[in-house]
Amino acid sequence: MMEKVILNRGREYATVHRHPWIFSGAIREVTGSPAAGESVAVCDAKGTCLGYGSWSPASQIRVRMLSFSPDAAPDAAFIRRRVAEAVTRRKDILAGGETNACRLVNAESDGLPGVVADVYGGTAVVQLATAGAEFWKQEIAAALMESVPGCTGVWNRSDVDSRVREGLSPQTGLLAGAEPPELIEIHEGAIRYLVDVRKGHKTGFYLDQREARALVGAYAKGAEVLNCFSYTGGFGLAAQAAGARAVTHVDASADALALARRNAALTPNPAGTAVDFLVADVFKQLRRYRDERRSFDLIVLDPPKFADTKAGLMRATRGYKDINLLAMKLLRPGGILATFSCSGAVTPELFAKVCAEAAFDARRDFQVVARTRQAADHPVALAFPEGLYLKGLVLRALD
Ligand code: SAH
Repeated sequence: MMEKVILNRGREYATVHRHPWIFSGAIREVTGSPAAGESVAVCDAKGTCLGYGSWSPASQIRVRMLSFSPDAAPDAAFIRRRVAEAVTRRKDILAGGETNACRLVNAESDGLPGVVADVYGGTAVVQLATAGAEFWKQEIAAALMESVPGCTGVWNRSDVDSRVREGLSPQTGLLAGAEPPELIEIHEGAIRYLVDVRKGHKTGFYLDQREARALVGAYAKGAEVLNCFSYTGGFGLAAQAAGARAVTHVDASADALALARRNAALTPNPAGTAVDFLVADVFKQLRRYRDERRSFDLIVLDPPKFADTKAGLMRATRGYKDINLLAMKLLRPGGILATFSCSGAVTPELFAKVCAEAAFDARRDFQVVARTRQAADHPVALAFPEGLYLKGLVLRALD
């Protein structure tokens, strides 16, 4: 028998409107003592069943909804179907031949809270962030093996910090099929990347910037490009493939740049782009360039998350303002700044405001030529706006 979670009177609004999170304060009563990750029936104060979710006893988000229908209680077949449906929604991305890597399951926005799955060639990589995701681990792995075309193995990269809030310890290792190769070669159009699913960031790579990388490539022909926070090459490789005059990749991680160097050698270089790799702190490097009076035609700023929570927002906006102001001063007239924020707490409106303030302080005029979001394989459920985390602006300096 499934245990029941009964909500306080008047606290059913979010659940009725299909928001997947139920906070501890909304709960009046729980029958029995459900185990971590187990499914519970969620009822309003009158006892009407609103659906089913996964129980997270250690987290402030106590329940994450899996089903909003009283008739559809989650079981193994339900979870497998959800995974298969999410994979099917991406089949055109993979079948198109443009790329052999994409996100397959985007957590809440694909109806599977806490579950992220990406594919790199024949290897699926999962990141399970919640008790419910952990509970269904084997079903998720089996469903990926079954539904992902050409899948040879499922690797677990559940070493995310957020698991602590769920009372879960980090976990990595093989979940199904064969061990992945040490490095997996993927492609995005002409660009080639080597991906390390064991030690790389996230599940190994920043798939969420695929569309933005292509967009930035379109401004790169003949340009002298500064690719800040390059990771394994990303935007700079797109610029190289598009015929940039020169590309300088800057990152604090020597390992990331070592891979960037290999990726640059694998990626076409039709214009003989001069490529440079600099292990440095971007905050310091931009100041060094300022003091040297250097300038660039195209600058990319794709920093890591500066804010995790609303509390960290002040510090984060100061960080964004600082690097954007410095970069704006380094741009040649008519130059392009592609600037991003992956902090969920920073809204697109706030990010645009911070950039406007930076432009004001730099005493330069800019126009917005494009606004970007996380790529389409990282969709955001309309009922779950929290799913939007990555946004960007492509700005042109007018003078
Ligand atoms: N643009 C990349 C992803 C960038 S991820 C792509 O398209 O794939 C952010 C990167 O910033 C990481 O590689 C991290 O090593 C680097 N980083 C974090 N803080 C840094 C700092 N202060 N200076 C330089 N690099 C930094």
